[in-house]
Amino acid sequence: MALPAFSVKPYDYNSLWQVPMDRALSAWNVTPTPVWITKSSSAKSIIVAQQYPGKTWFGLYTPHGSKPDRYFDIKLNSLEISKATTNFDKFVQYNLVHELGHALSLIDNPVTSQVSIMKYGVDFNLYYVPQQYDINDVNNYYN
Ligand SMILES: [Zn+2]
Repeated sequence: MALPAFSVKPYDYNSLWQVPMDRALSAWNVTPTPVWITKSSSAKSIIVAQQYPGKTWFGLYTPHGSKPDRYFDIKLNSLEISKATTNFDKFVQYNLVHELGHALSLIDNPVTSQVSIMKYGVDFNLYYVPQQYDINDVNNYYN
């Protein structure tokens, strides 16, 4: 995304999904960054949670268009995410916080010894909100 403030089209799922998905947006919005994610029916960016048979990823971020009119879709793979045996809601939240990190220009698996929501294999039981490293990364990018 070109901007840290953007809207996504409203989504409507059962509370098992809706609640942790909304928490993921809030988790970014409360960070001390310029991030402000809202829902708007006119938004071009979408977040979808559904089954993607044969796909092993948990979440997928795909940008469209070019700056400054870039938008995205984020897919959450309910088949794979539902395999989480503990803390399902935290796992949903973790995955959406991570994918929204991509929408905020963060890259996968940053080289750092610090905890990051963008690192592969991060323990979602403990880390499901943006970490200090991620907050600094966003501020470095947008400030
Ligand atoms: Zn990623």
